[in-house]
Amino acid sequence: MKRIYLDYAATTPTDPEVVKAMEPYFFAKFGNPSSIHAFGQEAKKAIEDSRQILASFLGAKPEEIIFTSGGTESDNFAIEGVAYALEKKGNHIITTAIEHHAITEPCKFLEKKGFKVTYAGVDKYGLVNPGDIRKAITDKTILISVMHANNEIGTIQPIAEISEIAKSKGIYFHTDAVQTVGHIPVNVDELNVDLLSLSAHKFYGPKGVGALYIRKGTRIERFLHGGDQEKGRRASTHNTTGIVGLGKAIELCQENMDREAKYQISLRDRLIKEVNDKISEVHLNGHPAIRLPNNVNFSIKYIEGESVLLNLDILGIAASTGSACTSSSLEPSHVLLAIGLSPEIAHGSLRLSLGRWTKEEDAAYLSEHLPKIVEKLRAMSPLYEKK
Ligand code: PLP
Repeated sequence: MKRIYLDYAATTPTDPEVVKAMEPYFFAKFGNPSSIHAFGQEAKKAIEDSRQILASFLGAKPEEIIFTSGGTESDNFAIEGVAYALEKKGNHIITTAIEHHAITEPCKFLEKKGFKVTYAGVDKYGLVNPGDIRKAITDKTILISVMHANNEIGTIQPIAEISEIAKSKGIYFHTDAVQTVGHIPVNVDELNVDLLSLSAHKFYGPKGVGALYIRKGTRIERFLHGGDQEKGRRASTHNTTGIVGLGKAIELCQENMDREAKYQISLRDRLIKEVNDKISEVHLNGHPAIRLPNNVNFSIKYIEGESVLLNLDILGIAASTGSACTSSSLEPSHVLLAIGLSPEIAHGSLRLSLGRWTKEEDAAYLSEHLPKIVEKLRAMSPLYEKK
């Protein structure tokens, strides 16, 4: 049976070249990077090399990079770390209604501890209005966090414009760049951010490793208490293999990003056109142009996204209705509700995300079979009948 993977936004395969780079660090070069002996020092060197590669990719300094266990930890670290470091200064945080749960959950947790959080709305394309952020600022605001691109609908936010507002008021600015690093240019000075989260498994690196960029001088409480790794900011023995993999993955993205993005944009736009041409009453979610090169998200009226997924799965096609982290929940996506979709329409959503190994024939196979699945499901749908 054919197996086609169109869920790169959930996770990517680890590039074989990344696996090759990691391999020596499991056995031959297994030392603890905090050890003084040669075994430790060779592991430490590999970590520092990766830090250098990532820093130069982001336009940052190596000492501004903290390795973490992934996007969730980086987001939690940024939100809680700044909140606790600045709680004497203020207790107000501004974020948006479309953030990943790795941001909204620590925000909700802080609300229980007495912090106030404003969740700014977005327009029908999922774009944040910088003016809304400006209006939400109070003299107690200590942090603004707006994601670089949304993981469900792919809309890319005007980060530099929003961070400029934060900077002009002396407020720290964080962005969750988990979906953009490795896929579109991300430069911490151009984006003008104080903190930025990323995760290796979204750009062909291994799972369970990521990083938080923290601009020099930013006040932030340490996250994991224990040893003095990462200059005392994040204890625990380094994940050497993972960090080496992250560095190699970034190197490969640096080499391939422009070409890959161009290719994915052409495939993405073809897929959008074909699905629109072949299926009636479908709606593209997210901004038509200001979106991730690899993201397609449709709402298909009168049917359930889950049923579409199961039918695609039978044909060997892996897709998603939205965030993999909430796929077991029956609640409609908070992102789709935030862009103004009704719960019924939000339930009929389908996310297709492309990547390094997506072939033209994969997209063609999808656009051949999706209309047939929709037709079959609509034929069984009481909502479609009533129409
Ligand atoms: N932020 C965004 C935008 C994401 O898409 C994800 C993963 O789906 C995360 C955070 C969490 O990253 P991780 O899976 O590395 O914890």
